[in-house]
Amino acid sequence: MFIGGFQKFTMLDYPGKVAAVVFTKGCNFRCQFCHNPELVDQKLIDYDNNIKEEEILKFLESRNGDLDGVCITGGEPTLQIGLKEFIKRIKEMGFYIKLDTNASHFSVVNDLIGSNLVDYWAIDIKTSPKKYKIMTKKDNIIENVEKSINLIMNSNNELELRTTVVPGYVNPEDINEMIDWINGIDKNIFSKLSRYSIQDFKSRKTLHDGFKNVNPYSREELEEIANKIRKHCENVVISS
Ligand code: SF4
Repeated sequence: MFIGGFQKFTMLDYPGKVAAVVFTKGCNFRCQFCHNPELVDQKLIDYDNNIKEEEILKFLESRNGDLDGVCITGGEPTLQIGLKEFIKRIKEMGFYIKLDTNASHFSVVNDLIGSNLVDYWAIDIKTSPKKYKIMTKKDNIIENVEKSINLIMNSNNELELRTTVVPGYVNPEDINEMIDWINGIDKNIFSKLSRYSIQDFKSRKTLHDGFKNVNPYSREELEEIANKIRKHCENVVISS
């Protein structure tokens, strides 16, 4: 695997759990607002210097009892060859697994669900369906995202949906369309979610320089967006 970062402790990334975080390199999307360009931009990714899986596993072994779980994020973790085996070894130590994904690799999601290796999924809902391609620079992925969400929702795994609200790309009318889209995948999704997370856009570091000039939403505007989703989902959080 290509692992670009390892955070030994967080109480923020895995709801209700004390966890470590593994950051994988590479992503099939090119969200222009992405705040991890060093994990996404091929010109910036250093594939020669990686944190070794064994190093992480050794650390986790020494923290068994102190940590509850491990979050695997990116980049896009489902691109990694060896992900399944890595998760399996972590699970064998007794840790919970949270996987952050853009949900576009349905075959990998399907395999992980079939093997019962993930406890908590956090799936990105980037924007309204009509703007997905503009936002991600990727064709024909909506269907896979829908299939992944459907599969996870019908498993016994926890599911979180999350959206980074970027002005111009995720406007209030996009939120309405996203709600309709999600309800159209299955009308019970919102009632089954562990939570919906609204993530504040940060302009400090972005994949495309043009986004450095985009002003984030105010707290009031974020609350208005969250309230639209609260009409459908009990647990909506705004995270910065
Ligand atoms: S925001 Fe996520 S899905 Fe988009 S490019 Fe960055 S890592 Fe990939």
